[in-house]
Amino acid sequence: MVKNGITWLVVMIIFMSIFQSFSSININRKVDYSTFISDVNSNQIRETYISGREIKVFKKDSSKYITYIPINDPKLLDVLLTKNVIIKGSAPEEPSLLTSVFISWFPMLLLIAVWVFFMRQMQIGGGKGSILFGKNKAKMLSDNEIKIRFSDVAGCDEAKEELSELVEYLKEPEKFTKLGCKIPKGFLMIGPPGTGKTLLAKAVAGEANVPFFIISGSDFVEMFVGVGASRVRDMFDNARKLNPCIIFIDEIDAVGRKRGIGLGGGHDEREQTLNQMLVEMDGFKKNEGVIVIAATNRPDVLDPALLRPGRFDRRVTVSLPDVLGREKILEVHMRNIPLSDDVVPMTIARGTPGFSGADLANLVNESALYAASCNNSKVSMLDLEKAKDKIIMGAERKSFIMNKMQKEVIAYHESGHVIVGLLVPNYDPIHKVTIIPRGRSLGLTFFLPKDDNINVSRSKLESQISTLYAGRLAEELIYGVNNVSTGAVNDIKVATELARNMITKWGFSKKLGPLLYKSNDNEVLTDQNINNVQNISDYTARIIDEEIKLLIDLNYKRAKCILSSNIDILHTMKDALMKYETLDIQQINKIMKRKKI
Ligand code: ADP
Ligand code: MG
Ligand code: ZN
Repeated sequence: MVKNGITWLVVMIIFMSIFQSFSSININRKVDYSTFISDVNSNQIRETYISGREIKVFKKDSSKYITYIPINDPKLLDVLLTKNVIIKGSAPEEPSLLTSVFISWFPMLLLIAVWVFFMRQMQIGGGKGSILFGKNKAKMLSDNEIKIRFSDVAGCDEAKEELSELVEYLKEPEKFTKLGCKIPKGFLMIGPPGTGKTLLAKAVAGEANVPFFIISGSDFVEMFVGVGASRVRDMFDNARKLNPCIIFIDEIDAVGRKRGIGLGGGHDEREQTLNQMLVEMDGFKKNEGVIVIAATNRPDVLDPALLRPGRFDRRVTVSLPDVLGREKILEVHMRNIPLSDDVVPMTIARGTPGFSGADLANLVNESALYAASCNNSKVSMLDLEKAKDKIIMGAERKSFIMNKMQKEVIAYHESGHVIVGLLVPNYDPIHKVTIIPRGRSLGLTFFLPKDDNINVSRSKLESQISTLYAGRLAEELIYGVNNVSTGAVNDIKVATELARNMITKWGFSKKLGPLLYKSNDNEVLTDQNINNVQNISDYTARIIDEEIKLLIDLNYKRAKCILSSNIDILHTMKDALMKYETLDIQQINKIMKRKKI
């Protein structure tokens, strides 16, 4: 209605201006004022029409022109009168009634129009683009906006399989409803950050080709008391209109925490929101086609009511990718960058245990940045290695200058790790060794596990302990016990923790047997345990300490044996490291065979 009004007004303005231009007398010729005065003096003028500074002049020979009075000329009228020129004037300018009404009302009309426009925008639920609707902050992505497919998600095949059933249902609901199946309406994706939960949910929507609402748990809770619950209601109402569709609640732990607990106040609002959500999830009619997918990395804090059947009854675990998964994820992210021929994703995958999908995506991006900054047209293995090292250990500390003596200590230390690491049985292959300081470490020996260390044998663990001490041992052998540096803090820490786990958790001690010995810990104070918990007796604790010491001593001695019988290699490797700073496995192998590099 208002829109019509605006059109009408515009038409009117156009008409008015056309009318005005017709009503005025049209004279094109312009003449200067002095010519006009001389015309007056020579009695050639019949009539003048003065309005403001403009004079329309009609001559006796019926030609006409316009002239302008340059300054206020009070004598002009006298001159014209004496020459018997007819003088005409116009009434003082009064805007027409319509124009004045229009001018005074225009701002008001504009405001109303804008207001109506926004109201209508908010009422429209569907349509293209991400539109805020009602009070709820959920973003709606329509089916053709989601470009992500299952093929963009790699390395979590179990989760994909579970979700592809849902996709099938969304594509062909009849196939399932015919048989009276009830499709689960709540999927809860659980997994560490960056493993692709959000990505998977989008892929489901993309594959199934249905509208996709996305909202994060914290959006619910944000701001005003009481609004969270109404947002939930709004969102479900909107979703019902569009069924089938997917509601994706990211980071649901922000709203779905256990009710009635929590430190500090202010969780009333969250409880209401959660209650509303539970009500809405139950309120679905059978097979209504509204599927709720939620994601969290804290399933332990979720309210049990959310997890009962009928709500989020399907749990999809999305775990950190294994070595093959990492390879596939790397390949997915390498699809869009030009790679040189030497790139082997598997090598990178092997060197990145514990990396999540997001970390790997970041790695590929960093490597492309390296390549770009060197003006290379393709990303090489070197760029990828650099990116990996940077992510694992921090950037190279170029400004950090060591003197020759310090550098030598580190070279001996790392050489020790390398030699023992290669000569103990069942240990991971070595990838490279460097004495370039990075992040917090001054040098590093890289190992390249063949596969993820999920189940590790006792012999491998012992080899690891020997290797960890080898750095410090090398220093000891070269400089003497009194000159050993503090560079082995981290080695000692890791080795001791390993040995403790072997004795108390993994049952590798004959004396103590395969039992779990929990340490006496004083955990966070909760209602249940205010006192420290005594899990083991003092006597057992002493045996544990003895056993750990024994295990470490044994492997320490072994490392010492290996190093002292290969001391020539230790020296050559130190020299090579001093010279090249980084040695790869080919160079290391040559040194180990006492060949020249
Ligand atoms: P979260 O599990 O924390 O929700 P996201 O789904 O947001 O993790 O993942 C962040 C980014 O990491 C994605 O956009 C994607 O680029 C990358 N990523 C994570 N997991 C995978 C995977 N399995 N396959 C491919 N890319 C992944
Ligand atoms: Mg996420
Ligand atoms: Zn070390």
